[in-house]
Order: sequence, then C-alpha cells, then structure tokens
Amino acid sequence: MVTTHFDYLIVGGGMVADTAARGIREIDAEGTIGILSDDVEEPYTRPALSKKLWTDDEFTWEKVPLGTADDTGADIRLRTRATKIRPEAHEVDAAGETFSYAKLLIATGGTPVPLPVEDRSNGERSLTFRTAEDYRRLRALAEEVDRIAVVGGGYIGSELAAALVQNGVDTVLVHTGAVLGDAVFPAALAERFEKLFRDAGVQIVAGSRVTGGEADTTGARLELDNGDDVRADAVVSGLGIEAATDLAEQAGLRVEDGVHVDAQLRSSVDDVYAAGDVASYPDRLLGRRRVEHVDNANEQGRTAGRNLAGAAEAYTHTPYYYSAVFGIRYEAVGTLDSSLATVEDWIDAERGVVYYLADDRVTGVLLWNVEDARDAARAVLAEADTLTRDDLVGRIR
Ligand SMILES: Cc1cc2nc3c(=O)[nH]c(=O)nc-3n(C[C@H](O)[C@H](O)[C@H](O)COP(=O)(O)OP(=O)(O)OC[C@H]3O[C@@H](n4cnc5c(N)ncnc54)[C@H](O)[C@@H]3O)c2cc1C
Repeated sequence: MVTTHFDYLIVGGGMVADTAARGIREIDAEGTIGILSDDVEEPYTRPALSKKLWTDDEFTWEKVPLGTADDTGADIRLRTRATKIRPEAHEVDAAGETFSYAKLLIATGGTPVPLPVEDRSNGERSLTFRTAEDYRRLRALAEEVDRIAVVGGGYIGSELAAALVQNGVDTVLVHTGAVLGDAVFPAALAERFEKLFRDAGVQIVAGSRVTGGEADTTGARLELDNGDDVRADAVVSGLGIEAATDLAEQAGLRVEDGVHVDAQLRSSVDDVYAAGDVASYPDRLLGRRRVEHVDNANEQGRTAGRNLAGAAEAYTHTPYYYSAVFGIRYEAVGTLDSSLATVEDWIDAERGVVYYLADDRVTGVLLWNVEDARDAARAVLAEADTLTRDDLVGRIR
C-alpha cells in the first residue's frame, strides 16, 4: 500500500480544515499539509448554503469556496474518507492509501440526524442539509416542484423555510414546539419570530413530530405523531447533527459527547488534536462544551493549526452564534434556553437584549438585531458572578 507523509494531516475538509491550514501557515511556512475530505468540494463557507445563496442575488457560488489550497498550499484529497487512525504508528487509512503524519487534527464535524422516513427516491425527494451537494439538490427542487416540507424548527429548519418561501416555493414547516423558536426565545419573542414566517406565507405545523412516512420520485408523505399526514413534493430536514466521533472512538481517544480535548485542543492521545463541531473543549467562561457553530469552527481551527505547528496556546475564545431570516439577525453567546429565567432589555421595538439566568447568574445573552455587541455580551458572562438583574438593564446598547 502506498504511504504518503504529511507533516500536518487534517481529517475532514470543512470549515475547521480551512482555518487550521491557515493557522499552521502563521507559524510554519514550509511544513506539508494534507487534508482528507469525503466531500466533493474543497472547504466552503457552510452558513451561506441556507442563507445568502437564496436571498442575495449578488452572492453567487464563486463566493462560497474558501480558497484553502491556493492560500495555504494544502494537498486536499477529495472523495477520500478516512476509515482508520492508528495513533501509535501515526497513520491514517483512507481510500486504499495510508497517510502518515507528525501531527494530526480531527475535524470531522457532524452528520445530520436522518428523518424517520422510508426513502425510495434515493435522496431525490428526501434530503438532509449539510453539504454543497445538498444545497444544489434543494435548489434544483425549488425550481422543479411546487411544495416542499421542511422538518425541524431549529436554525437550519427555520432558515431553509425562509429561503424556500422567499423563492416562491409553497413551504410547510413541521416542528415539535408549540411556537417556532420557543425552545430558545422567551414566549412573546417566539410569537413574533413565528409571525415572520406566517406573514411570508409559510404554513406552520406546530407541536408535531414526524414518526414515519415515505418518499419516492414523485413526492413525500410524512406521518405525524398525532396521526395526521403532511404531503409535499419533497422534504428536507434539519434535525441537528451527531458529532462524527467514530474514527476517534475506534482509535481509542477519549470521547464524551465529542472528542475530549484540553485547552490547547489536544486529545487524550499524543500528537492528535480535535476542533470544531466534533470537539468537546473547556470553555474559559462557560465550562466544558461542544459547540456546533461557525465562529467556534473558525477560531478553534486557527488555534488548533497554530498548536499543531508548535504554538502551545490555550483556546480562550468564547464563541458566538448567529442566524439571519427575513431581515432580522440574532446573535448569541452562552446558553439560550427558554426554560431559564430571563431579563429582557428592549432598546426599541426591533432591537433588544435578552439575558438568560440560572440561579440568578447570567449563562447566556441573546442580541436581537444588536450589532457589534458580542464582546459586551462576553464581558457580561465573564462578570456573571457579581452582576445583579438591575445591572443588566441598559448595559448593552
Ligand atoms: C446549512 C448550514 C448553515 C449553518 N449556518 C450557521 C450559522 O448561521 N451560524 C453558525 O454559527 N453556524 C452555522 N452552521 C454551522 C457551521 O457551519 C459549523 O459549525 C461548521 O461548519 C463546523 O465546522 P467543522 O469543520 O467542525 O465541520 P464541517 O464544516 O461539517 O466539516 C467536516 C468535514 O469533514 C468531512 N468528514 C467527516 N468525516 C470524514 C472522514 N471520516 N473522512 C474524511 N472526511 C470526513 C465532512 O464531509 C466535512 O467536509 C451552519 C451549518 C449548516 C450545515
């Protein structure tokens, strides 16, 4: 079997792979970088797949690839799935080849949770949504068919419903909450959020879980837990992801809701690091967690890359996440959970800050159409032990 050596080998070709390669180059201009990716495209900016590509005519496909190979000289092997890591030998098997490494980064992200629907369309009419290919398939369907069902009321489901309806598709959104967004937003805000979708023409089927159904090349039927059916020409789901930890588990790395890494993003095994959606890391302000968001992927990727190249730096960035639909943009830092106590601080009808408190201590901050306030939100979390509710109102503007 052929063995190819890289000084730095990255398994996974997504957003972390891009920033990690750039992080390596900040420290080491010469070392060889290999990226093994089972995608068919070089790393690209994933959030655009459910947002700007649908809503901004000037944002065309050329703006999506990240230019990783050109900018860093990384050797990117596409359609190449890594199947085994042998940490003692410092080797990875992929597509009939063996790759040896000095330092390895696991950046395998996550795999979408499948919809419990029998798919006889071979992915033509029933799809999950994670990759550029998924985007292209849904885009084609949006042109070809009249009615598409979206399953899942999280940010991917809500963004896809908004994207489809704004592109003239008869859209039905099935979600388990009583009101769209009610798991994260306070009740009145969730009502306002859902109204945006209804006003745009999205049919909302709330309080419903898809328990079965089937899809074929002519359409999809979804069975709901209350016995009702939803029919559409196609269905796309956004039910969250499962961290892609199998390779790490097989290799004997410590895995607990993600590949367990320390502050320098080192796994439990020598010379193996992990970052992004797949990694469980100790957040400086919020404690150990795994974050499935792009700011974390970018920043953690960069730190991991620098550390692969010897920087030995702690990852101290507390990430934010964001979503954008129908002209509103919200950002959040920390834990957003509508079952927590909240303090709402509205600047005007459209802009406000919501603080989430556990035992009277702020654990999350939601910024609703409030720009350039992420650092202020992080500062609130850093000072959470000393802040009272009265200190919060008026604090972020
Ligand atoms: C449609 C969409 C919209 C999003 N929008 C937002 C947003 O608005 N805000 C936000 O904060 N976050 C958003 N995210 C989340 C964000 O994109 C992810 O957090 C980020 O991409 C994680 O980067 P990653 O490198 O860890 O994983 P990924 O980008 O998923 O990359 C992992 C890569 O590894 C590959 N891979 C996995 N296993 C193997 C293997 N064994 N061998 C080879 N390759 C493998 C995968 O194919 C993939 O290319 C969005 C995600 C999606 C899907």
